[in-house]
Amino acid sequence: MLDARIPSGPIEQKWDQCRFDMKLVNPANRRKFTIIIVGSGLAGASAAASLGQQGYNVHCFSYHDSPRRAHSIAAQGGINAAKNYRNDGDSIFRLFYDTIKGGDFRSREANVFRLAQISVNIIDQCVAQGVPFAREYGGLLDTRSFGGVQVSRTFYARGQTGQQLLLGAYQALEEQVSAGTVKMHSRSEMLDLVVVDGRARGIVTRNLVTGAIECHAADVVVLATGGYSNVFNLSTNAKASNCTAIWRAHRRGALFANPCFTQIHPTCIPLTSEHQSKLTLMSESLRNDGRVWVPKRKGDNRPPNEIPEEDRDYYLERRYPSFGNLVPRDIASRAAKEICDQGRGVGPSGQGVYLDFRDAIRRLGLEVVREKYGNLFEIYEKITGEDAYQVPMRIYPAPHYTMGGLWVDYHLMSNIPGLFVAGEANFSDHGANRLGASALMQGLADGYFVLPATVPNYIASNSLPKVDTSHPAFKDIRADVEARITRMLKVNGNRSADSFLRELGKLMWDDCGMTRSEQSLKHALAEIPRLYDEFQNNLRVLGTGEELNQSLEKAGRVADFFELARLICIDALHRRESCGGHFRIESQTPDGEAMRDDENFSYCAAWEWKGEGAEPALHKEPLTFEYVHLAQRSYK
Ligand SMILES: Cc1cc2nc3c(=O)[nH]c(=O)nc-3n(C[C@H](O)[C@H](O)[C@H](O)COP(=O)(O)OP(=O)(O)OC[C@H]3O[C@@H](n4cnc5c(N)ncnc54)[C@H](O)[C@@H]3O)c2cc1C
Repeated sequence: MLDARIPSGPIEQKWDQCRFDMKLVNPANRRKFTIIIVGSGLAGASAAASLGQQGYNVHCFSYHDSPRRAHSIAAQGGINAAKNYRNDGDSIFRLFYDTIKGGDFRSREANVFRLAQISVNIIDQCVAQGVPFAREYGGLLDTRSFGGVQVSRTFYARGQTGQQLLLGAYQALEEQVSAGTVKMHSRSEMLDLVVVDGRARGIVTRNLVTGAIECHAADVVVLATGGYSNVFNLSTNAKASNCTAIWRAHRRGALFANPCFTQIHPTCIPLTSEHQSKLTLMSESLRNDGRVWVPKRKGDNRPPNEIPEEDRDYYLERRYPSFGNLVPRDIASRAAKEICDQGRGVGPSGQGVYLDFRDAIRRLGLEVVREKYGNLFEIYEKITGEDAYQVPMRIYPAPHYTMGGLWVDYHLMSNIPGLFVAGEANFSDHGANRLGASALMQGLADGYFVLPATVPNYIASNSLPKVDTSHPAFKDIRADVEARITRMLKVNGNRSADSFLRELGKLMWDDCGMTRSEQSLKHALAEIPRLYDEFQNNLRVLGTGEELNQSLEKAGRVADFFELARLICIDALHRRESCGGHFRIESQTPDGEAMRDDENFSYCAAWEWKGEGAEPALHKEPLTFEYVHLAQRSYK
């Protein structure tokens, strides 16, 4: 049985009590402990800056050339916090409730409550750093609404919230770099985790510029390496985002939780060509003012502005009058798919719906709309050549966020002692569907507030004999890493890693995307090993291991995507219920909504690696709901 180490006591006191009960490390002793943090996105940079400031000896790794390039920089719409500045009924409890309900009752109550509590501190922290959140005319911080809620609690900086928050975290990180508490290892890719006597004690990396394989020892390892939506190949994630760090840790014993909980975001620019390598998000914030519609009549090919009101179907407003265009992402995505499957989709491929600002521009004026969303309209115009102030945007769902990740307890520690996991890389707070603007909140809660308490507690509570890189475990794992690289270089086949990822991604999208069925999942589980086998025998990696070699980098990441894809499908097949973004077509209500099976599936599924090709072992963490009443989710 997994022990999530949830503190006892009333939910609103758990975190304070837990923090008080945690052990501290004497300031003079902190520099004696080394903490490795892999990742310098919002979660990693905030953790590294905070632990560095406390005085630990922190080493932060990133495959990017600068922390500012982490995928977090792409976040557009905003960050949630239960500040209730609008006096519109918000509270910590409401944010907690919305998140549990939005996640379709598949997350851990205690973690989510803590997240809602900490949310208010994050905004203060970031304002103090100088993050330029949007302000109202009078100078107060402005907010807007995101899907799945009826209050306005999303703080934002135009459509560049992630960028501004990352600059804040980066400044805090650089302050520690110059103070000498954090050493930044950029262009370094973690390729394996080193476990000694059952504890995480280091990592093996490849220097992406020279190809050197290097070992690094520590007392604690934190993974903050982001999400794995690129397993679908086409996603809104940065092209380089991948699963290698967490997958390698999984192979060393870390449990992988709810891998099949992936989020398909409803508002992305539709695919235009088979050869496209990336999809672009249009922030959910646009649904505050944009109205989603399609023509009522199949085959109505008139330009959108010539389609009169009575011939338009504002299907979200029609089906979900309470939440309208701001229903949660899983629901909006499935509704768009249904409409397109009925043949009412728009655009050249028929895989699109309109997001229309005509009424908002009439109501608010063009300048107000430009002020709020200007950079998103610019991105849209650059990609499509269309001016969305004049004609409606066309949008379609795309893979975007992964709620699954390494299993962690309340302290954000995995089942491997000393291995902590933060941000999108863990599975912690969003259940089966994440609400918009909650990822930035979680990453920063983990990095600025949770890890700075729980990591020191781990250090203070355990005797950690010194381990350095001369330990045989480092030698063995380094040899494994080198052998794997040599193997990939030697195949000398005919296909690039990219071409395999394209095929794998399509398979995952078709069989394990917005809808899944027993039949489609069994099909995927038969096809993935076949394709993986071809990958292992027909891969072509150009160049050598001793140089900058992007073809080699990609090959390693795609190999890990293959193994993860299989686990995703195994998880999706075993979960015979629908919940949130996991929609099993066999399990739906008469009106086509996700139908949970609480009696049999009210648990987090944490999978244990049992070897290549072997069946993984399932561990269950039961989920109990004391504070939010389990109910069929409704946004009508
Ligand atoms: C287009 C887009 C818009 C979004 N908008 C919003 C929004 O408005 N609000 C919101 O709340 N959320 C949003 N999200 C989600 C949010 O941006 C992410 O969930 C969040 O930024 C992830 O942060 P992170 O720190 O966990 O990971 P990342 O920012 O992905 O950082 C990962 C870090 O790990 C490093 N890394 C990874 N693997 C390795 C390895 N093997 N070795 C060394 N380094 C490694 C990378 O170099 C990087 O530094 C958006 C997502 C997308 C795709």
